[in-house]
Amino acid sequence: MIIIMKMQAKTGQVDAIIKRLEKENLKVNISRGDERTIIGVIGDHRGIDKGALTRTGGVDRIVPVLRPFKLASRDFQPEDTKISLNGHAFGGDKVVIMAGPCSVESMDQMMETAVQVKEAGAHLLRGGAFKPRTSPYSFQGMGEEGLKIMADVRKETGLHIVTEIMAPDQVDLICKYADVLQIGTRNMQNYALLNAVGKTDKPVLLKRGMMSTIEELLMSAEYIMSNGNHKVILCERGIRTFEKYTRNTLDINAVPVLKELTHLPIVVDPSHATGKWTLVKAASKAAVAAGADGLIIEVHPNPAEAYSDGEQSLKPKRFAELMVEVKRVAQAVGRSV
Ligand code: PEP
Ligand code: MN
Repeated sequence: MIIIMKMQAKTGQVDAIIKRLEKENLKVNISRGDERTIIGVIGDHRGIDKGALTRTGGVDRIVPVLRPFKLASRDFQPEDTKISLNGHAFGGDKVVIMAGPCSVESMDQMMETAVQVKEAGAHLLRGGAFKPRTSPYSFQGMGEEGLKIMADVRKETGLHIVTEIMAPDQVDLICKYADVLQIGTRNMQNYALLNAVGKTDKPVLLKRGMMSTIEELLMSAEYIMSNGNHKVILCERGIRTFEKYTRNTLDINAVPVLKELTHLPIVVDPSHATGKWTLVKAASKAAVAAGADGLIIEVHPNPAEAYSDGEQSLKPKRFAELMVEVKRVAQAVGRSV
């Protein structure tokens, strides 16, 4: 349930209610908006006398939350969550751009990519050191050596890094190097992993499972948040449909739907959503027009030679062209890049 306080409710009145709920071993989530405070209550609250609570000083009304996700729900927190990182904020006015190769392959490849995507206006550098490949015989990533390369490139360029984590036992290692932990589509429902990243204080980029519903994505976010880490960035990266022309189908509806359902920032991955570099620019513009808070785009200096996902990777020059057009779309919808 959520307790909506009156506009003129005093801090002492809010505190008294929190105390009362905590005495019943209920978890509370406080959202202090510009106009009023909302108290989200999680746990078995059958023992609470709702009538008496409604008559308590400062309370306007009590509303049941029927959705299965609570902390992620916009009912619990009406205002957008902003996740700040290195001077950029996911969920703010600016659209945050993450770019870089699918896999970290070498120092030269990462440095060349980072310098060029930064020049074109990217805010974060992406790159996988641990790769979840469909085939065990495909390149599996450089591991810690790849993380070290990314950290060195961050030092040189100032670009913060987002990289994938695949297992709970990688938390300590990856947190040593990464600024944002990426959970891939194949691990969206790896609950041990969700619990583990939920105990860190790093922002988590949670990618939608390729066969998962929007509600399942939000329930996975809820796992992370219920462990204490509220810095979750949702990512629509395309879902499986009957359409074979593209690698996946970009569910553009997910952007406005998620904006309705949750206060968490939502970014779009047009690279995995389309699987073809020729389509990445159009999908990026559609995402920003639909209200996405960011994009994560694969860029490689030489896509033909990429160890993974070359077909959907943009050359840096084409990424720069994309950025020019994305900026125009962002402006048209009242955002900037
Ligand atoms: C990736 O970002 O390179 C990746 C493997 O993404 P996804 O989990 O969406 O397939
Ligand atoms: Mn990839």
